[in-house]
Amino acid sequence: MQLQRAVRNLGNRGIAAMAISAIDIALWDLRAKLLHMPLVQLLGAARESTPAYGSGGFTSYDDRQLESQLGGWAEKGFLFVKMKVGTNPDDDPRRVRHARKAIGDRVELFVDANGAYTAKQAIRLAQIFHSSNVTWFEEPVSSDDLAGLHFVRNHVPAPMEVAAGEYGYTIPYFENMLAAGSVDVQQADATRAQGITGFLGAAAVCDAHQIALSAHCAPSIHIHACCAVPRARHLEFFHDHARIERMFFDGFCEPRQGRMFPDWSRPGLGLELKKTDADRFLV
Ligand SMILES: [Mg+2]
Repeated sequence: MQLQRAVRNLGNRGIAAMAISAIDIALWDLRAKLLHMPLVQLLGAARESTPAYGSGGFTSYDDRQLESQLGGWAEKGFLFVKMKVGTNPDDDPRRVRHARKAIGDRVELFVDANGAYTAKQAIRLAQIFHSSNVTWFEEPVSSDDLAGLHFVRNHVPAPMEVAAGEYGYTIPYFENMLAAGSVDVQQADATRAQGITGFLGAAAVCDAHQIALSAHCAPSIHIHACCAVPRARHLEFFHDHARIERMFFDGFCEPRQGRMFPDWSRPGLGLELKKTDADRFLV
């Protein structure tokens, strides 16, 4: 609260919110460490693991890269994988069909347009993606367009869920999105939304609206909170973040059969910076 007041004139979103989030996450980590317990225990563990979805499938990939990344996650036992769409809408149906072929029938396929489509375009593409059994349509239109999201949500084939929320920096953002009936699953990111404290707040708003919550990026941070809050559906095992977390932190927990488990043998977030490995990237 104090920190939010301090950035009143700068604006409480964007980079200021990310800085506040970093401080909040560090303080939760420290508090759990001082109490010699993993953060999940301090938050009140409700489950021992949370499903993770493999997330990548960038539009800059060629077919072979798309196939090996998504297919690789499927082979490792992930139950859901996500790919990007929207850079070249005419080619998206082909890429989605290709991804479906690579992962087989057992794994759920998610697409994320990062707000690239118009509402009508999104509905048309949703029908095409449905034939590849896509079950998750993230940010089909800009997440600032709550009415547009609501419209798309009401017009996509029934099994497909509309998700958004990664740009939420404050609690009212989640309340507004849910009150507008814009999403089937709410996303939230503790590294933006005022840290663990904000993530718990977002989870409470989801609980009030009876909507599932999915964590956006930063898997090593979210795994503790996701094992504690109500209605946590899954967390995003984002390719770039997993790579950086694995490179720079001792204590990184590899998913097992598509699930992440917080490490109960380590206090706090269970992470230790590998300083010498990080040093060579100093600028
Ligand atoms: Mg996204």
